[in-house]
Formats: sequence, C-alpha cells, structure tokens
Amino acid sequence: MGRKQDAKKMSAREVLTQQWFLAKLCFSASPKGMALHLFESIKLQVSIFFESIWVMNYVLGVAERGESWGKIVWCMVLFMLAVALSTVTFSYYMQSGLPKLKPVLYRAFRMHIYTRMKDLDLQCYDQTDFYQKFILAAEESDVCIDRFLDTTELYCAKGTNFLLSFGYCIFVNPLILIVPFLFLPLELRLAAKENSCSVASRMERLPFEQKREYQNRVFYLADYAKDLRLNPKMKEKCRNDFQDSQTEIRRVHKKYGKRLVFYAAFRDALIGGCAKEISAWMLLLYQLLVQGTLSFAHMLVSFRAVDYVGNSMTMLLNGYKKMLENSAYIRRIRSLADMEPSIVSEKNLPMPQNPGEFDVSHVSFSYQGAGRVLHDISIRIRPKQKIALVGYNGSGKTTLVKLLLRLYDPQEGSIRYNGTDIRDYEVTAYRHSIGCVFQDFKIYAATLKENVLMDVSKNTKEESYEVEKALYDAHFTLKDQRLLYQIETPLTAEFEKDGVNLSGGEMQKAAIARTLYRRQKAVIMDEPSSALDPLAEYQLNQEMNETAKEKTVIFISHRLSATRDADCIYMMEHGRVIEKGSHEELMELSGKYAAMWEVQAGLYRQPGSNEVPELHLK
Ligand code: ADP
Repeated sequence: MGRKQDAKKMSAREVLTQQWFLAKLCFSASPKGMALHLFESIKLQVSIFFESIWVMNYVLGVAERGESWGKIVWCMVLFMLAVALSTVTFSYYMQSGLPKLKPVLYRAFRMHIYTRMKDLDLQCYDQTDFYQKFILAAEESDVCIDRFLDTTELYCAKGTNFLLSFGYCIFVNPLILIVPFLFLPLELRLAAKENSCSVASRMERLPFEQKREYQNRVFYLADYAKDLRLNPKMKEKCRNDFQDSQTEIRRVHKKYGKRLVFYAAFRDALIGGCAKEISAWMLLLYQLLVQGTLSFAHMLVSFRAVDYVGNSMTMLLNGYKKMLENSAYIRRIRSLADMEPSIVSEKNLPMPQNPGEFDVSHVSFSYQGAGRVLHDISIRIRPKQKIALVGYNGSGKTTLVKLLLRLYDPQEGSIRYNGTDIRDYEVTAYRHSIGCVFQDFKIYAATLKENVLMDVSKNTKEESYEVEKALYDAHFTLKDQRLLYQIETPLTAEFEKDGVNLSGGEMQKAAIARTLYRRQKAVIMDEPSSALDPLAEYQLNQEMNETAKEKTVIFISHRLSATRDADCIYMMEHGRVIEKGSHEELMELSGKYAAMWEVQAGLYRQPGSNEVPELHLK
C-alpha cells in the first residue's frame, strides 16, 4: 500500500473500521481505564449542560414568574458546586489518570505491531517501502493512540452536548433547529475540501519529513559522531540536505496553507460565527416579537441551546477530520502488522538431537529486485567438519550464510540438514540450533551478562558461571577496572552512569562469547576476528580449536592465515565456488586462492624472511 492509497479518500465505513480496531485494542488493554476515560468525558459535559441551559431556564423562569430569589440562589449554588466538582475531578483525571492510561495503550499497540513484525522475513528490510512504513509505524503508533483518545473524548463530550441540547430544542423550540441544519451541507462540503487538501499536503510533505528525520538521526546518533567530525564535507552535505528538506516542507506548507486557512476561516468564522448566529437571532426575535410564541427566557435559553447544537456539530466535524487522518495512519500501520512472513515451515519438524550434515545443493539466489548473487552453489558439510568460505568482498559468502540460517530462502536448489530440507524444520528451532557471529553484530544497552545470554537473566549461579566461562574462552578480560560490576556491568554509557563503552575488539569478543555460551552443534563465524589485533586473533583461534572441537564450524574470513587449517576451503568469486580443497591442495592448484594467499603472505611476511605467521582454525 503506497502513498496513493493514503491520499485516496477513505469511506466512512473504513474510517469506522479502523477506529473500531483501535477501540477494541484499547478496551482489551485497559477496560477500566477506557471506561473511566469515557465517563469523565461525558460527565463534564452533562454538568455543563445542566448548569448553562437547565439552570438558566429555571432561573429566568423563576424571575419571570416573580417567585422568591432564595430559590434562585440555592439552585445556582448547588449547580455551581456540581460543575466545580466535576471540573476538579476531570482535571484530576487529565493530570493523573490519563498519563497512566496512555503508556498501557502505547504498549498494547506497539506489541501488536512488533509481535507480528518480529517474524517477518529479513527481505522486507531490503524494500524501501517497507522500511518507510516501519519507521512510520514506530514513530506514529503512540501518536495514533493520542489522537484516538482525543477524538474519543471529543466525540463523547460533544456528542453528549449535541444530544442534550438537541433534545432540549425539540421540547422547547424545535423550529430553531432549522438554523444549524440549514448550513450543514455547506459545512460538510467545506470540511471535505479542507480534508482532502490537508491529506494532499501531508502526503507531499512525507518524503521530505522522512529525509529530515534521517538527517536528524545522523546528527544526534553516536554512530555518526566520529565520522562527521573527521569529514566536514559530509557534515556539510548532511546539513544542506536537512535544509533542502526544510525548504521543501515550507514550500508544501505554503502551497496548501492559503487554501487551508480559507476553508477553516470560511467554515468557522463566516458560517459558524456569523451566519448561524445572525440567522438564529433573527428567527428567535421573529418568534418573540412577531409570533409571540416564545417567552423572553425561552428565547435566551433557546439561543444558547441552538448555539450548543451548532457548535457541537462543527466540533464533531472537526473530530471526524482528525479521525480520518488517524484512520489513514492506522491503516498503514495495520497493513504492516498484517504482513505474513513467507519463511515459514509447514511441517514444523523438531531439530534432530545429533549433529547432522548440511547439504547445499545447486543453490541460486537473488535479493528482491536485484541481480543474481549466488549461482548454482553445492557444498556438503559433514558433522564436526571445519569449513572456510573465502573470497573477496561481495563474492556472496555472507549471503550463503544467511541462506544456511534460513534468513532467506533460495529461489533454486535446496539446503538439507540431516537429510531433511531445512524448510521442513520449525523455523525458530532451526535458527537457534546454529550459533552465529556476524561481522555487523550489535551490542545492546543491557548488562554484559545479558549481552552474552541474549536473554533475560534468570540470576542463577550456574548461569553466571557459564557466562564468565564463555567470556574467558573468548579472551574477554573481566579484570578490567572499568567493569565495576563485572558481568553485571551495564554496557553503553547512553543510559547508565556506570555504563561502559567497549572497544571494537572487546565487543567482538563479547559477541563471540554468545556462541560459546550457547552449546549449539554448529557455529557460523562471519569475519569473527576482523576487529581483533593479530595476537588476539591468534589466541582466539587457538581457543576456538578447543571449544569448537565437537562442533561443525563454518568460518568466513578474508584473512587466509585464519582459515588455512580448515578441512575444506571454498574459494568464492562473483557468487560461484571457483575452487575447493584443503590449503595445500589449493596452493598446488596455483589458482585464485594461491594468488590471494601470496598477496596476503607478502603483507604479513617479515622483511628478509619467507615465513608467514601461522594462525590455526583447528
Ligand atoms: P561477501 O560476504 O562475500 O562480502 P555478500 O554476500 O555480503 O558478500 O554480498 C554479495 C552481493 O550481494 C554483493 O554484491 C552485495 O552488494 C549484494 N547484497 C548483499 N546484501 C544485499 C541486500 N540486502 N540486498 C541487495 N543486495 C545485497
């Protein structure tokens, strides 16, 4: 669903469907909170109506009939107290109840989105449209709830006001109702025009607002801080892009601004303010002076009542505009949450207990909308075998690993594990059965322990011991004095005063510890030591020899010294396996692997020596 559909007029039925969806979600998240919200919105209006219409009618009636003033005073005092009480409780609710209700509803809506989205295919992230929708969903879901609460309050309040005032007019002076309904078609027409104008304006601004948001993020996120300081030209480009987006947004505001002001002014000031009031007064004076069908008191009260009817109709129309806008956002967000993952399993087979063989057979793959990245790949990996995928950047190594992890499915060929197509295993169980360190691993704002566990800590001694052991095996130094609380130390200094920012190498070791902690039978290491210095890399490889002895290991590295001891090395180029064999076999072949080795050996060789430092995988 794209911008065209957003800009398209929504039918009233669809608006109601979207509102109904959010209403159900909010009521199931907090039934009491929502009931109180409705009650508070209605209660205040009821008391205001009685005070301003009913009491006014009573007081003027008593005065006209020349009855005791004491009655008037008592009546006014009582109703003023009632209104004061309901205003105070309403304010209390707005200050105390509503701020408690909102986070519950925000969470419910976010959870609705995220629980659906966490299972979505990784390929969704390759599509710009999906990404834009995702950002919108993340940014707008809370605002949707705010708007929903606002419109619910408005509809309850103004709906109550309308019904009571309308009812009063029917009983006291039905003829006066001609006035607001006379102008209704014109108001509706103007509201529709105003609405399509503001939707068009919003849609035209959206891409520029997204661009501006992106530039904003670049300026405040720590990820870019270093680069921007070192590359002032890029900073300038970002600033210029930001300003261009601002200029475009201003241009769109200007383009639609005058029309929007005209519609609003025409509707609110000319129709709502002047035309309706003048017509009402003329009709009432006619009834009072010419027809003599109305007392003076009824004339005044009728004016107020019909004013309420007209006013609440205008407010309800304005509320509909807000509802329409909100429905467009809800529809967008729901379309995202309703997307179905295509990487699923029909058979949902459990994972076998014993380590199995991976059989990649004639696999070809392309990312959506892009050319072919893998061509007819066939690789067989026996249990506990150590294999290495090597090759220059962009040759397809990581893509192959993503297919092995079933983050994507190949378009041609198949991958079998233990003789069964991996598409038949339960997806999460299959993915969990393989430990993996990607080169773009992430460290979370959580404790070091949680970063290794990748789970919520159960706080058991065994768990802590295992985490410490995994960190030790990954050569992570816990003795560091910055780690005040050892494995309980919070990582990243973004939120915690005592939080620690790890170096690139330390982060990589923590990420490696994740795979050592989980006892999976197969491990994929995608450039696991790229941020480590040669000594640390050597030590880590030694350690991996020990800890990964019983595991199947798929190792990706462009540092051939780290992969030379693999049982089988697959040299990849342009998405194809061009050479395979042991280091010695490949060297003997004198092909591309040997050439790459020679180039790298030259980089590592000591001056005057032919020795290349050896780093072992096994
Ligand atoms: P390697 O790991 O060997 O460096 P990759 O598997 O990461 O190579 O990339 C292989 C090719 O696939 C590259 O040309 C890269 O640009 C392309 N590629 C990688 N990820 C995506 C993606 N998400 N969408 C489109 N193309 C991609």
